Amino acid sequence: SQRVRMLKRQMECRGDIHRLNTPLLAIYESLIPPVEERAKQKQLLALLEKLVCKEWPESRLYLYGSCANSFGVSKSDIDVCLAFNEDIHNKSEILLKLADILQSDNLQNVQALTRARVPIVKLMDPTTGISCDICINNVLAVVNTKLLRDYAKIDARLRQLAFIVKHWAKSRGVNATYQGTLSSYAYVLMCIHFLQQRSPAILPCLQGMKTTYCVTVDDVECAYFDKVEKLGNYGSSNQESVAELVWAFFNYWAYGHDYANSVISVRTGSIISKREKEWTRRIGNDRHLICIEDPFVVSHDLGRAVDKFSIRIVREEFERAADIMQYDPNPWVTLFEPY
Ligand code: ATP
Ligand code: MG
Repeated sequence: SQRVRMLKRQMECRGDIHRLNTPLLAIYESLIPPVEERAKQKQLLALLEKLVCKEWPESRLYLYGSCANSFGVSKSDIDVCLAFNEDIHNKSEILLKLADILQSDNLQNVQALTRARVPIVKLMDPTTGISCDICINNVLAVVNTKLLRDYAKIDARLRQLAFIVKHWAKSRGVNATYQGTLSSYAYVLMCIHFLQQRSPAILPCLQGMKTTYCVTVDDVECAYFDKVEKLGNYGSSNQESVAELVWAFFNYWAYGHDYANSVISVRTGSIISKREKEWTRRIGNDRHLICIEDPFVVSHDLGRAVDKFSIRIVREEFERAADIMQYDPNPWVTLFEPY
């Protein structure tokens, strides 16, 4: 009956949906970081490289997360990974040393968070005004950053949709794993999967194609087709506008997704069953109430922070967004109203 409801709504897709396109694109444009911001990020990275190289000449710094995956909005913090060739058993020691080095170079608010799930050093650079988190040997994040960036190159609508979804999630307070909601990374994967599922598809499944890029990180093989410039205008036989896609995205997560049985999987470009992954019941703290498979670490459910309280909040927000996209005269305002 849920499916019937969704199909009915789909037929009712608001007649003036195209009217929403210009204002939604204007919001997207306003969120894009200006070029000066890129330059400042590079400047900060160069400074960090200089400092780190003195202490650990064999190490390397990588940008990851939204400053490198092309889904970063203006004024985001940057995520940096300090990578060593060998395994690091005492990350705390390195982080404390790193914090020391940064502090003596006048970087501000330097803090080593050695007990966090992903231990980091935080800092703020007074010259550029940019804040930054540095983690150690989180190479999988560097690789999934590349995957997201490669998907973004295929069709401009992915970046447009994901910016709007991320902006909505931040405005509505459903973008914080420590509160049981979803990470930005999870939302971007939801957008990629959604565009893989359109008919005709707007995005391919890069991990289902010939391997042109392959690395093994922490015993996980990460392989996919990364020569995306060879795909031409992959999604061009689908002419859906960003307004239609935003409408359909929220409609899917509000009324179309089968939360009881389905896992969304960018790796396969399809929906797979919870049963197949043995994600049907709670194991430890993983409740699997909304299932988003990590493309490389396939045992990871990116919805694992969602609990029986926060699932209500998240789903009610999807329903609110879907209803606004359907009926509100000015969705581009109402959608992003602070909660
Ligand atoms: P924001 O603009 O909100 O900062 P972000 O892209 O930096 O967005 P985060 O959710 O803060 O997103 O995550 C930063 C990066 O860390 C992601 O791009 C991803 O590479 C990695 N990451 C985050 N969560 C996970 C996870 N659960 N498993 C694997 N990698 C993750
Ligand atoms: Mg980030």
